[in-house]
Amino acid sequence: MASVVIVGGGISGLTAAFELARHGDVEITVLEADSRLGGKIWTTPFAGRAVDCAADAFLARVPEAIELCGELGLREHLVTPATSRAFVYCDGALRAFPERTVLGVPTDLEALAASGLVSEEGVARAAEDLTMPGEPWRGDESVGALVRRRLGDEVFERLVAPLLSGVNAGDADELSVAAGAPQLAEAVREQPSLIAGLREQLARTRPDPGTPVFYGLPTGTQTLTDALAHELGRRGARIVTGARATAVDRHRAHATSRFAVRVASADPIEADAVVLATPDFVTAELLGSIAPGVAAELGEVPYSSVVMVTLAVPRAAIGRPLDGSGFLVPRAEGLLLTGCSWASSKWAHLDDPEVAVLRASAGRFDDRRALELDDADLVEALLADLATTMALDPSVSPVATRVSRWPRSLPQFRPGHLERVSRWRAELDTECAGLTALGAGWDGLGIPACIRQARAAAERARRHLALPSS
Ligand SMILES: Cc1cc2nc3c(=O)[nH]c(=O)nc-3n(C[C@H](O)[C@H](O)[C@H](O)COP(=O)(O)OP(=O)(O)OC[C@H]3O[C@@H](n4cnc5c(N)ncnc54)[C@H](O)[C@@H]3O)c2cc1C
Repeated sequence: MASVVIVGGGISGLTAAFELARHGDVEITVLEADSRLGGKIWTTPFAGRAVDCAADAFLARVPEAIELCGELGLREHLVTPATSRAFVYCDGALRAFPERTVLGVPTDLEALAASGLVSEEGVARAAEDLTMPGEPWRGDESVGALVRRRLGDEVFERLVAPLLSGVNAGDADELSVAAGAPQLAEAVREQPSLIAGLREQLARTRPDPGTPVFYGLPTGTQTLTDALAHELGRRGARIVTGARATAVDRHRAHATSRFAVRVASADPIEADAVVLATPDFVTAELLGSIAPGVAAELGEVPYSSVVMVTLAVPRAAIGRPLDGSGFLVPRAEGLLLTGCSWASSKWAHLDDPEVAVLRASAGRFDDRRALELDDADLVEALLADLATTMALDPSVSPVATRVSRWPRSLPQFRPGHLERVSRWRAELDTECAGLTALGAGWDGLGIPACIRQARAAAERARRHLALPSS
């Protein structure tokens, strides 16, 4: 039987393995460096409930995650957030995001004016997008360049940049539209106005205002990776945790090319095909000797580090209603806090009349202050920011606290990223056919994007092994 080694036991690697294991015609080994599977997906008990340490929801628009949940018997467990209302902390107050925005770009200018988030001039400047001439969008540029040009600086700085930074902890002035905000790219492909294009897109994709935008799992997102691991075990795949791959070599002695994956403190593992589902900087190291050109470029993809502090606090200590899913803090406010998810309002399964669960985030691409603080100082600093932003009693003692550190966790897609990804794939095909790579740092960092790439990677591996398509 043909053998495949998959390096990385996050959602990307586990899904690729799951797809490959579908027909029982491949011998599969998954190597995971950590002692647990799941990578950036991790749920632990917190204040008596299962609360995610990182990802807690996935987009409905990209259907692959919902489809995978269906295949794993989780479809009926999916839940949607109890509220879609979110706030931005601006000029000393929390202001509700206007209704009907897409990635922060407003499509309803009356709602934008009513939100108080931008000035009258800012609304008038955004409205110019509807009449301003321009060419249909081609190639790639930064989200900042596109949105500032079409709708002005205020909308960009107060809505779009905080929202996108909430997703990737990056700088939206440097973020590729095609890779980091594909809905915006789609909107301006046929005509120049972002607002008009997004209005059409909304009418097509969310004709009913109640259409869910996100889904989650009440037992935590890790339910998904646990179910994948369980199913892989059932299908006879070998999953090895605590196994850090250090390099991939190619055996030229064989008639057909074979690979050897070197593993720290263990014998190398041979395989007919290899799937690398690790962060770009790890993939770069693994490819160093067999595809040095791709490795050098991959190693340059920047990553942001973030910290998520989960807090359980008495509801009585919060001097405002938790009437939304949480809020974002624009970089210009200068706080350590970058956003706070009101988890117990966002998810019905975390609701509790006495205690509120908050997930406070810190860390941006160019702001490492949070990472340099120890846990106690970090919690204290974030509690102070929560007192400033959401009227949390500054003298409160949390009922429970959990600090989750995510160093180099969020890839930053610079303009041109997707073209580079296509080129890397073509180069890998030529230089080491049978080796494929994917993951958050390739075609998109959201869970559904990782699942989509994993399916494609499994197909490429099956094609290389001359096996029928799954
Ligand atoms: C704080 C935070 C919040 C997020 N929230 C959301 C959200 O709400 N919704 C959403 O859709 N996305 C969210 N994301 C993004 C999403 O969770 C990740 O992009 C995605 O889970 C990455 O999956 P992956 O499998 O590509 O990579 P990873 O999860 O990083 O998996 C890679 C695996 O490879 C292993 N590994 C590394 N080196 C080696 C080696 N040498 N040998 C063997 N194994 C190795 C790692 O230990 C890891 O398990 C969030 C991310 C973070 C950090």
